[in-house]
Amino acid sequence: MATKKMKEQARKILKDIFGYDNFRPMQEEIICSLLDGKDAFVLMPTGGGKSLCYQIPAIMREGTGIVVSPLISLMKDQVDALTACGVKAAYYNSSLKAAQAKEILEQFEAGQLDLLYVAPERLLSKTFLAKLDKLKLSMFAIDEAHCVSQWGHDFRPEYVRLGELRAIFPDVPMLALTATADEHTREDISERLELTKAKRFVASFDRPNIRYLVAEKRQPLTQILQFLDGWPNCSGVIYCLSRKRVEDLAVNLQRHGIRAAAYHAGIPGRSREKVQDDFLRDRVKVIVATIAFGMGVDKPNVRFVIHHDLPKSIESYYQETGRAGRDGLESEALMLYGSGDVNLVRRLIENVENIDQRRVEVHKLNSMVAFSEALTCRRRVLLGYFGEELNEPCGNCDICLDPPETYDGTVYAVAALQCIRELKSDHGMGYIVDILRGSNNARIKEAQHDKLKSHGAGSDLNADELTSILRQLVHHGYFVQDVSRRAAMLPTKKAERIGATGEPIILAKYQPGLRRQLKRLGASRDEPLFKKLVLLREELAERDDLPPHVVFSDVSLTEMAQRKPVSDDELRRISGVGEHKLEAFGEEFRSLISKHIATSSNKAVKSDGKEIPMLIAKGPGLNDTQTYILAQLRKEGMSLQEIAAQQSISESTVMKHFVAIIRAGQYIDVPTLVGKEFDTVMAELDDVDPYASLTEIKRDLTVDLDNDMFRLVLAWREGIGVA
Ligand code: ADP
Ligand code: ZN
Repeated sequence: MATKKMKEQARKILKDIFGYDNFRPMQEEIICSLLDGKDAFVLMPTGGGKSLCYQIPAIMREGTGIVVSPLISLMKDQVDALTACGVKAAYYNSSLKAAQAKEILEQFEAGQLDLLYVAPERLLSKTFLAKLDKLKLSMFAIDEAHCVSQWGHDFRPEYVRLGELRAIFPDVPMLALTATADEHTREDISERLELTKAKRFVASFDRPNIRYLVAEKRQPLTQILQFLDGWPNCSGVIYCLSRKRVEDLAVNLQRHGIRAAAYHAGIPGRSREKVQDDFLRDRVKVIVATIAFGMGVDKPNVRFVIHHDLPKSIESYYQETGRAGRDGLESEALMLYGSGDVNLVRRLIENVENIDQRRVEVHKLNSMVAFSEALTCRRRVLLGYFGEELNEPCGNCDICLDPPETYDGTVYAVAALQCIRELKSDHGMGYIVDILRGSNNARIKEAQHDKLKSHGAGSDLNADELTSILRQLVHHGYFVQDVSRRAAMLPTKKAERIGATGEPIILAKYQPGLRRQLKRLGASRDEPLFKKLVLLREELAERDDLPPHVVFSDVSLTEMAQRKPVSDDELRRISGVGEHKLEAFGEEFRSLISKHIATSSNKAVKSDGKEIPMLIAKGPGLNDTQTYILAQLRKEGMSLQEIAAQQSISESTVMKHFVAIIRAGQYIDVPTLVGKEFDTVMAELDDVDPYASLTEIKRDLTVDLDNDMFRLVLAWREGIGVA
């Protein structure tokens, strides 16, 4: 059994080498099991921290740990990250020049390496196996173990032979790791790798830091641009179904000034690698891609994943959204959901000849549709699909944050059905909407459709609302849009039930815009300092030829911008700062932070060309209303009165929100709000007793401000650090 002393040593390595204070769930147990020399099968979601599970025991145990990894780019990334922490690691694959390969083998044979990453085909070559036989090995770690299974989403034939290892090296413990959530694939993996007796470690597959959002697809480009507005300068991936869409969208985003690049299997290998590398090194911010993109990209600070089109299945949706937020910071997954996409997939499925396969495809599609149209917590639906139960609604999906209102939409369903029957010929959704809302446009007049009974039957609603209703009726299976008849709306068999059974048709209320409310990432971090830290990280990464996140992660930089460490000891307390990185980069970061503190003193700092002072955060972060108000102030330059009117709240309430915004460290132009009296109040306040009550202070002033304004001034003084 792993002794107390070994556990202490593992903890010390976690802190000194990797810079972390605590193990994540399951990490310690897995490490102990390997230290005991036992096999293990680790099922943990992306970002769960699988790598440390074999890296720490490999460092502790005698001999070299062999890590099998499917992609050359991943190996390099991992080895770079380990080397930056001072761990002796190397990789051995076809990308090495002969001299380099020779040098690495020599180090390996001399027992100088803690970890060696190898591609499976290299590992299983006769000559390499013969070498291994003579050396001391601490373990085999099979990363991305689902590659061994044909059921998985990324089968790699060269993985299949890995099952042989168990018999050749019976005494070397073996660890298989995967983020696959699908039970069928898991079984297959453990059989093929001969790990049926290994202890299984199954972590929860919940990714609490990913916020799931689904929006009705209306104008995808506008919707995406609006979404990107909320994530300025952040990295993200947008998935589209076809290569053409990928290219169109990438170009459109570039036109709007976004550093986007296209990625799909039709792009030549060399250029594809460059796109990946640019993304990894933060030169490209947004990748627009087909699902070909993802496996080889291990970027921890992907802040969002957007699905422009319907994913193939819940499994793919989970895998693809899972590429966001590996670093554990808040991230978002947005899916644009349109009935057109569903119809397209339905049609493709109809062409599948094998009945069994068709049934599987239909099931996959239906699950995806059910998820998208769910009126209950998305995370519940998602985890439920993988057999995991969530007791409470998650509080971090669009449904939880903003539950849709529902209503009895039977009258509209009846009207729509009547309209389609009255029309007698094929018409699309748009035309039916026009009739229902009572339009008298030329086409309707000419066909005399203004005489129909259903004309104007939905005139209490606007076109968007009616369209949403028709779409929902399609989703619920009352109508189909027949693609072979130019998307004509046709009633299905189920439509006979409309209005006939007395059973109400419950619809979700139409909500314009994206349903999303954001607690912003790192609300209390010093944003200008964070930007400077990011620049410094880029500089050092360029100097040492590393991806920026290998220097320090976003988590580390965010903490630095919050806690502003200026000594080595303070830096050590920042998550992700181990001894080796402290030595390599500490000096630069420390002096940048000191300089920032000395020069900024919370006065004007340039931000997006405007002088926006940074305030000291004294209170909690912003709530949704406050975030919204702040955005309106910054973007639209709205006045107090306008905001009150728009939000239907009193001006006094708006003022209270302003106070909270300032206390959260966010800038509001208080001097202008107060007006010409501002300087006088500020000067007079310098002399008052700080412990006096509000009434007492006001009594001593010559300027008369109402209580709300006065509280705002006090918050401002605190924010700029004079009170
Ligand atoms: P996975 O391979 O499961 O997707 P990684 O091993 O890449 O996950 O880890 C994801 C992120 O979490 C990395 O940035 C890693 O450094 C960080 N991490 C792992 N373990 C811990 C821990 N115990 N404390 C803090 N951060 C951790
Ligand atoms: Zn939820």
